[in-house]
Amino acid sequence: MTLEKGLIHIYTGNGKGKTTAAIGLGVRATGNGLKVYMVQFMKGRRYSEIDALEHIPNFTVFQSGRDEFVSKENPEQIDIDLAMKGFEHAKKVINAGKHDLVILDEINVAIDFNLLPLEDVLNLLEEKPEKVELVLTGRYADPEIVRQADLVSEILEIKHPYQEGVQSRKGIDW
Ligand code: ATP
Ligand code: MG
Repeated sequence: MTLEKGLIHIYTGNGKGKTTAAIGLGVRATGNGLKVYMVQFMKGRRYSEIDALEHIPNFTVFQSGRDEFVSKENPEQIDIDLAMKGFEHAKKVINAGKHDLVILDEINVAIDFNLLPLEDVLNLLEEKPEKVELVLTGRYADPEIVRQADLVSEILEIKHPYQEGVQSRKGIDW
């Protein structure tokens, strides 16, 4: 089961629900026999979705990051190296064309934090195989990436319990 023409989606904005929207789309796609691959940038923690997605056939997750805060102004070399490793891995997966939907989770943040060169990501989008559908998530989507995408959703924060002092909760936030 393959898509005739793969499109490029962006889920951005400062409200909650970007990564979970991408995962939801991925789960839907597997229901139609599509093969899904998600690369998570800047994440090293075992998020609950990893435990869940292990039970879903044809949904693979690859993390390339540390479970640490990354400084936007002064990122550590290890964070740049891990982001580049994730990007090289994603490129291979996309260009192999064996997966119908590839999710690049938090790649917008990795670009914004200068862990990944914008040009390299733009080239990847430009040259992706016709049939591969791509989803890029994360705040601060670059306008040039937005220009290249077919579908862009910005999630606006109206309210978030974090503002009321509620800390992130396992199974809901991670
Ligand atoms: P989710 O992973 O729940 O779909 P997200 O991908 O939209 O959220 P990110 O911008 O990637 O959110 O933020 C990373 C973490 O911060 C997640 O644990 C998320 O639940 C939480 N978060 C998301 N939006 C907000 C917000 N507006 N205020 C505080 N925390 C947030
Ligand atoms: Mg996210």
